[in-house]
Amino acid sequence: MSIAANLKQIKSTLPDDVVLVAVSKTKPVENLHEAYEAGQRVFGENKIQEMTQKWHVMPKDIEWHMIGHVQRNKVKYMAAYVTLVHGVDSLKLLREINKQAQKHQRIIKCLLQVHIAEEDTKFGLDESELIEIMHSEDLEQLAHTQIVGLMGMATFTNDSVQIRREFKRLKSLYDQIKLTHPTVEVLSMGMSGDYLIAIEEGSNMVRVGSSIFGARNQ
Ligand SMILES: *Cc1c(COP(=O)(O)O)cnc(C)c1O
Repeated sequence: MSIAANLKQIKSTLPDDVVLVAVSKTKPVENLHEAYEAGQRVFGENKIQEMTQKWHVMPKDIEWHMIGHVQRNKVKYMAAYVTLVHGVDSLKLLREINKQAQKHQRIIKCLLQVHIAEEDTKFGLDESELIEIMHSEDLEQLAHTQIVGLMGMATFTNDSVQIRREFKRLKSLYDQIKLTHPTVEVLSMGMSGDYLIAIEEGSNMVRVGSSIFGARNQ
């Protein structure tokens, strides 16, 4: 199937309030253009350098989401244009994003990445670290960043019971944080293999790559 057909098929399964992030990492700009022509305006990349190269050549009404692990020394390269950073996992990183956003007179929206997978290969905050950041006094001083929600990745497994359990945990943390931080409104969970489960468990932003663009070589 074509990229346009894949997008159409996936969109037909998404409720209206769920944002589809097209994860285009490793894919050539021709593929991104095809998705753009089909109406897609939100793209996700996991390497700042690759995202920046694509940002330069793609139309400027695209929302770029950084979905991967962020190296602090590279934040400056995306600060001028990035819309949402999904993988924030420390106050130190948040401070750097704030500093670079300030230089561009922007406010950069961020999601805190929570470690929900039962395997220990994935990045992210544990529950106590998450609560600590949300209640940190530093947060109010960071006028150029805004924490708008949470992001998490389930274990890479075929066990849908386990995946559902992990997503349920993230949703419950999200609901808990919303009580004290009403501006929190984004729950980024779900990828090609598990986004339908994620939506059933309350996700409102899914990050889908291979189901749109085909398998990645690496
Ligand atoms: C690559 C990636 C995705 C998309 O993965 P697919 O399985 O290809 O849909 C989603 N989220 C993150 C954080 C990723 O790195």
